[in-house]
This record gives sequence, structure tokens and C-alpha cells, in this order.
Amino acid sequence: MSRYIMRLDDACPRHNRDNWQRMEELLNAYGVRPLVGIIPDCRDQQMEQYPEDENFWDRARAWQSRGWAMALHGYQHVYVTRDGGINPVHLRSEFAGLPLEKQKEKISAGMEILTAQGIKPVAFIAPSHTFDLNTLAALKECTDIRSISDTIANAPYSKYGFTFIPQQSGRVRELNFYCVTFCYHPNVMGEEDFIQLEGFLRVHEGEFVPYPRGQAKRREDVRDKLLRRGYFLMRDVRRKLSGK
Ligand SMILES: [Zn+2]
Repeated sequence: MSRYIMRLDDACPRHNRDNWQRMEELLNAYGVRPLVGIIPDCRDQQMEQYPEDENFWDRARAWQSRGWAMALHGYQHVYVTRDGGINPVHLRSEFAGLPLEKQKEKISAGMEILTAQGIKPVAFIAPSHTFDLNTLAALKECTDIRSISDTIANAPYSKYGFTFIPQQSGRVRELNFYCVTFCYHPNVMGEEDFIQLEGFLRVHEGEFVPYPRGQAKRREDVRDKLLRRGYFLMRDVRRKLSGK
């Protein structure tokens, strides 16, 4: 049986308030406690369409006190390289490809904002899933975060001094892995997405677990590596076919 983790990306003062409210009510109704990726200083133009919510940080603190796990979701959510790093889900990044010093600046500036707001992130979520070894070094030097939500694998594993929690799907579905994270972007969800999510929660609510804390004892194994190779190979093929 799989263990499902729910992840919500792109929380910041400018957000789709109705959708976040709806997601919050839905998850509360099914007792699901997600991991929430908070953008500390959002400069992403996509988010400018939403009005600024003055109560955002109060809401974030309320999530945290309800047992939702908080994650540092980059710094400004602006892509500055075309690098896929070590988890090349996309070929764009706020971090991958930048020198360590630059990455340290971004990580510490982001941490400072969250800390000042009373938010204690337990994980790092890279915008577009992309980061490299310098990102990990920056996290090690500037934070006590030792958990990354993002890798293609069957189960959590430890590597480079971090615990990697697999994140394999952008919507709920039955997947035959020991641990599966579903990554949602509430800002851009439509009616169909909510209906599909609720249908899945109705059947699988008992299989959702909070974001795992502590270090994974398991090392990455051959099955994880093969899985990842296959996944990125398919992605490459699809990219080439679509000409992107
Ligand atoms: Zn994001």
C-alpha cells in the first residue's frame, strides 16, 4: 500500500484566495495535513493577478499550528537559468547552475523572511523542482533544513546528508510506490481538479500521512536509480517530440 503525501505549492501573500480556502476546507474535512511551499518574497509575475492578502502570514501561522508542515519554496520564484540541476523536471531554475555564494544569498534571504514571520520550514521545495549540489550546500550552511521534497523514487532515502522525499505526480492517482507525493498548485486549480481530488480522498483518506520528519535510514537503491533514469528518459523523449 502506498503512503500518500499532499503538497501545496506557491503559497504567498498574492494568491487565489477562494481556491486556497476551498483546498483548506477539503483537506480539513478528510484530516489530511499537507506540506505547504511558501515563497518568501514572491516576484513571479504570474502571481500579480491575485490581490494581496494582508492576512496571509496569519493564515500561514495558523496552518503551521494545525500541524501542516511548512517548506521554503525558493526565494522569489523567478527563473534565472535554463539548468535542470539534479532533478531536471524542467530546464529552468531559480537555483540550479548558480554559484554557491549566490545561492547562499537567496536561501538565507528567504529563511530570514520566514523566520521573521514565525514560520519554521522543515523542508525545501525548489521552484520548478530544480536544484543542484550547490543548493544543497547552501541549505546546509544557511539553514537547518535537511529534507527535500522532490525526487523520483519508490521511498524516501538519504543522500548528500539530506532526506529526499519522492514527489512523482501533479494530481491524485493510484501509484504503486511505497511513498507518493502529489504536488498541487491551488492557485490554478479548476473545478474538475477539485472534484477529482475529493473523489480520491473519499476512497483513500486513511492512506494519507503527514510529511515525514527526521532522517531516512535507507540509502538510495538500484530500483530508485532505474526508476529515475526511466522517468527522465521518457521526459526527454516527450520534450524532443514536442520540440520544446
Ligand atoms: Zn512554485
